[in-house]
Order: sequence, then C-alpha cells, then structure tokens
Amino acid sequence: MKSKKTVGRKQTADTGRMADTEVTADTETVPDTELTDSIVGPLLAWYDRGRRILPWREEPTSYHVWLSEIMLQQTRVEAVKPYYDRFLRALPDVESLAAVEEEKLLKLWEGLGYYNRARNLKKAAQIVMEEHGGLMPETYEALLALPGIGSYTAGAIVSIAFGKAYPAVDGNVLRILARLRADGRDILDAKVKKAVEEELSGVMPKDRPGDFNQALMELGATVCIPNGAPKCESCPWGTICRARQEQRTAEFPKKAKKKPRSVEERTILVIQDADRVALRKRPDRGLLAGMYEFPSMEGHCKEREVASYLREIGLSPIRIKELPPAKHIFTHKEWHMIGYLVRVDELAGLEAGEETPPFVFVEPEETRSAYPIPSAFAAYAAQVEMGRKQGK
Ligand code: SF4
Repeated sequence: MKSKKTVGRKQTADTGRMADTEVTADTETVPDTELTDSIVGPLLAWYDRGRRILPWREEPTSYHVWLSEIMLQQTRVEAVKPYYDRFLRALPDVESLAAVEEEKLLKLWEGLGYYNRARNLKKAAQIVMEEHGGLMPETYEALLALPGIGSYTAGAIVSIAFGKAYPAVDGNVLRILARLRADGRDILDAKVKKAVEEELSGVMPKDRPGDFNQALMELGATVCIPNGAPKCESCPWGTICRARQEQRTAEFPKKAKKKPRSVEERTILVIQDADRVALRKRPDRGLLAGMYEFPSMEGHCKEREVASYLREIGLSPIRIKELPPAKHIFTHKEWHMIGYLVRVDELAGLEAGEETPPFVFVEPEETRSAYPIPSAFAAYAAQVEMGRKQGK
C-alpha cells in the first residue's frame, strides 16, 4: 500500500506563483527511466539553438569553471557576472588565489555572502599548489577531495573543462527531473540525489558531457524555473513531460518541510567621531568568521540602554540618533536589527569588553575599500558617510 506524507508547496490558482501551501504526495513514486532515456536529443538541440553567452563559458578552463560554479551557488547569474570579472582580474589563476591575503579575498567576495565558499577556494588552491604541482586535478575523485567541492562542482569541472562523463546534479537539476517524470521523491533526501546522479550517468552523452550538464543548468535557470510557473511552452521536453501532461507542474518538486529559522534580535551601533568609525573583527570561527562588523548589543535596546552601554565601554556620546530597522536572512537564522548612529568626541577611549574582540577605528572610505563588511550590515554601512557629514 502506498503511504502518504506532507511535503512540498502548491501553486496558487490566481497568480500561478508558488505558495507555501503544503501538498500530499505518494512517497513510493518511482521515476520513469525510459522517459529519462529520451531527454538528451531534444535538450542538446535546444541548447545549441539558444545557449546564453556567459563569461565563464568563453574560455572554460578548470579554474574558470570552478570559480563560476562556486559563485553561482546561492546566487543568480546576473548578480555573479561583475563579481566573477573583478575576482579574475585580481586573482587570475590558482597560484594567485593560493597566495591571496584573507582580507583581500573576503573583500573581493563581499556582497556574495556565504563567505566560507571563498575561504574554501583559497584552501583548495593551496592544496592544488602543494599536492598537484599547481595544476587542477583532472579526476572526479581528486576534485571531490578538495575543500568546498562536492559532487555537483566536481561533476561540472570534469565534464565542462575535461570532457568526462560525470553528471552535475544540484537543486535545479533535481527540480526539472522531478517535474519531467512527475517524481514524488523528496529532492532534499541525499539518497534521491545519489539515485538521480546514477540515472543521469546512464544517459548522458559521452561525446558532449559538459554541454549536457550546462544544458540542464540552463533549462533550470531559464525555463523550468524555481520560483513561479515553469515556461512549458518554451521547453524542449514540452511534449514528453509527465507533470505537464498531467497538469501537475505546481506539485513538483516535493520537499520535506524545513525547520523554521531561528530569529536573533540585535542593536547595531554606528559609532563615529569626526574622522573615524568603530568596527570590530568577528571571531575566526562560525557565522561570518573573520569579517568586520559594527559594534552591537544583543536584543532591541532603548536609547537609554545604549547610552549606558557606551559609558561602560569608555565613551561619552554627544548625540544618539535612531536608524531604520533592517533584516538579514541566513540559511538557518534571521537577524532582526535596529540601529543607532552615535556621535562621540573621541573614539580613542573605546575599550573592548572581556568577551568582546578589540575595536579598530577606520576612515569611512576604508569601510568600502579595505575592510570586508558582510552585506548583512549594508543598511548601516550606508549610514557611515552620513554620520560624518552630520557631525561636521
Ligand atoms: S515541460 Fe514544463 S514542467 Fe516539464 S520540464 Fe519542461 S518546463 Fe519543466
């Protein structure tokens, strides 16, 4: 007998967009493997007709493919392009990446978020220099052994840069195959990903593995899209897609319900004297490790609590002005922030608390050019120049 469980999201009738309504699904749905066999020809013909011109496709070396795929995790193609160009100008090869100072690396990554991706790039580049003579390894297994490279990225690099037939399966590929085959398995389940990798290994063309993987990525990014209704009328699989035939595209992919994100309330303090602003370095481990941030207090604090905290750390505020609230969403938590712009006579008296890392005092310009400040603080970083002007 088939069991049922509650998973996934449902399409709203009025807008066609995906809403967070739960739907029920058969958990024993088995994909149609014959259908999988017939996807290659139409997919490659569609890709050849209109593939997008992307900077990393022009000269698909292993370094270029690696860097672009790491940047594209969690970030849209259009947003990645300028970062990719800037990064390559500064660090054109594995050798320069292995040798870059961490602060310069994080500055180049600033705005892309998920900074461990950048740190892992550098760690992996150092291993390539030390253990592979400065040349990116050409085998799937050796790539998989490098920090930050999982099965998707290893598959992308060996197939696109070295022409080897390994699949590159990420959430996009799982989504479009789930729709194609009306596959009711939970795409967040690692066993399902593994099974799809094996299924695709069996059908991908040995003469064009890189194009096959890129065509799947392209289809997921432009036609069988994650948010909103898929554009089935433009899809190379429009006539064979099971979900489309059954008018059930909104039911796929199925996803087990995620744990809700935890919420942290914080009060951000943009503390300035006539010339400088106070920053402090975050700890070397954990969320946003090693980045710079504005001093902050836990919870949402009133102005008088801020004034008393400032006195505790050796400052006498001349003026405290409330700033607009801001929110930042990480994978597992949300920061709900309020903020104050604090004008002081002289920052030099500022002392770190017992458990607080030391402060640094920097020119406003340096908050943009030299100190990597996570985009979580963007709303408050924008106040720095304003605070100086108002103080003059
Ligand atoms: S026909 Fe529609 S739902 Fe099916 S794979 Fe194509 S875009 Fe996705």
